[in-house]
Amino acid sequence: MSKGIKKIGVMTSGGDSPGMNAAVRSVVRTCAYHKIECYGIYRGYEGLIEGDFVKMDARSVKGIINKGGTVLKSARSKEFRTKEGRAKAHEQFVKAGIDGFVVIGGDGSFTGAMVFNQEYGFPVMGIPGTIDNDIVGTTHTLGYDTALNTVVEVIDKIRDTASSHNRLFFVEVMGRDVGHIALNAGVGAGAEEILIPEEDLGLERLLDSLRRSKQSGKSSSIVVVAEGDKIGKSVFELKDYVEENMSEYEVRVSVLGHMQRGGSPSCFDRVLASRMGVKAVESLLEGKSNYMVGLKNDLIELTPFDQAVKGKAKIDKELLRVSDIMTV
Ligand code: ATP
Repeated sequence: MSKGIKKIGVMTSGGDSPGMNAAVRSVVRTCAYHKIECYGIYRGYEGLIEGDFVKMDARSVKGIINKGGTVLKSARSKEFRTKEGRAKAHEQFVKAGIDGFVVIGGDGSFTGAMVFNQEYGFPVMGIPGTIDNDIVGTTHTLGYDTALNTVVEVIDKIRDTASSHNRLFFVEVMGRDVGHIALNAGVGAGAEEILIPEEDLGLERLLDSLRRSKQSGKSSSIVVVAEGDKIGKSVFELKDYVEENMSEYEVRVSVLGHMQRGGSPSCFDRVLASRMGVKAVESLLEGKSNYMVGLKNDLIELTPFDQAVKGKAKIDKELLRVSDIMTV
């Protein structure tokens, strides 16, 4: 199968996400299966520039499939954005005899890999690892499903206290540019209103919706707010605004923050990571390069990096409608 590739490097880069370890395990074991040497690269491109590598075999990835975060650590590297930095990275690969690599990360990490490939013709494949699910070419990024489950579990708990005190809760979830987490977790947790960057609901419509909710007999309400929603106010400003205009509500705010990135990956993310790791390594061995592996119609398929990094994966319009109907 190998088109001359003998040593593969694997790294995690950018923000960490649950399922990255399962993907590292899959890459390492697929290499072992095909009798190819595998090296873990610590701290993303930063560790690559410094030659911070460790040889990994099938046994070195035992016990990590269920762990959140990344055993290889992750980092953001300013130096890799420069020609000089990438030249150092290439030297390190040459010195270690590594002739192909797999990068697990987001669109920034893929852009870096693409530039590196253009400069050195170095074979590379990408695995999308980010909880935001904002990458074109895959319906699910690694960590997204786990993050949704975490958010839904927390909102269920918040609802217990909200309904005991007739309160309105604003729950802020991650999603600076895209509202995938807010929309899906909001529908899954039965939120009364969902504010996402893709839609500008407007303050008046928000108040109308809350009034309707009250009139329809609801005693408590949950509003899920994506970090980057377009109303242009922080969740704390939203709280003040609603309290000023709807004195009947006692409003509370809960910012979920980094807990959404942590935790043991869901079964879905572990299986997806295992499938993606196999596809990434076998594609390199088939002589392919400059692609991201992704899930499309339940198949693992390749998307060229330049398409994967173009734009953000769009929100599901059908789900927006479902959300509207559910909050009747
Ligand atoms: P996340 O979705 O969590 O933000 P990401 O992979 O998009 O993950 P970035 O910080 O955007 O995270 O990118 C990770 C690293 O990729 C950067 O620190 C940098 O080293 C490298 N990188 C990003 N863009 C470029 C570029 N245009 N040229 C070279 N390297 C880049």
